[in-house]
Amino acid sequence: MKFKPPNSLLFFVNLGFFKIAMAKTVQLHDKTFETYISEAEILAAIGEMAERMNRDFEGKTPIFLGVLNGAFMFHADLVRHFNGPCEVGFVRYGSYVGTESTGEVVQLLGLDTAWLRDREVIILEDIVDTGNTVERILSDFESAGLKRPFIATLFYKPEAFQKDYKVDYVAMETPNAFIVGYGLDYDGLGRNLPDVYQIVETQ
Ligand code: 5GP
Ligand code: MG
Repeated sequence: MKFKPPNSLLFFVNLGFFKIAMAKTVQLHDKTFETYISEAEILAAIGEMAERMNRDFEGKTPIFLGVLNGAFMFHADLVRHFNGPCEVGFVRYGSYVGTESTGEVVQLLGLDTAWLRDREVIILEDIVDTGNTVERILSDFESAGLKRPFIATLFYKPEAFQKDYKVDYVAMETPNAFIVGYGLDYDGLGRNLPDVYQIVETQ
C-alpha cells in the first residue's frame, strides 16, 4: 500500500466562525513530532499483508522472526491474523543512534540455527531504510547455512533503500523522513504510541 498523507489524523478546533485543522503533536526528548499515519491505517495494511501470507504459506508452519525492539507491535498484530499453525521468535540488531543510522549493524541477540534450519522463516522488520540491517540478517542466515528467509516490513522508504535484494512483503511505503510510534522509537521513547508520528523539520 502506497501511503498518502492522510486527513484522518487532523482534528478540528472551532474558533468562532473558523475551523482550524491541527495535527496532534508529541514531544520526545528535544524533538517535536506530529501525527502522520493512524493506527487504523496501519492495522488495515497489516491485515492485507496477513491475507497474502495466509495464501502464500497455506499448509506450511512458518516461523515469524521479529527484529527487536522496533517490530514488537507489528509482530503481535500480524501473527494474530495468521490463520495456520506458526511459531514465533525474535532476533535483535542495532544501528541507529538518535535519528541517524550509524551504518554499522551489530547483532545483539543471536540466531537459534538448530531451530531455524530447513524452516520457512519470515523476518518481520519495523522499517527498511538504507537496507543495511536486513542485509546483515540475510548474510547471517547464509553464514549459518540457513536458507534465505522471507523479508516482511511494516514500513519501507524506497528513496533511502540502497540494496539489490528483494523485500518480499511491504505493508506501507513512506517518504524519507524520521518517524516514531507503533514500536518505533526516538532514543528509546515513543514506542508505545499507537499512531505513527513524523518529525517536525524546523528543529
Ligand atoms: P536500515 O538498516 O534499513 O537503514 O534501518 C533499519 C533500522 O533503523 C530499523 O529497523 C529501525 O530500527 C531504524 N530506523 C530506520 N528508519 C527509521 C525511522 O524513520 N524511525 C525510527 N524510529 N527508526 C528508524
Ligand atoms: Mg528495527
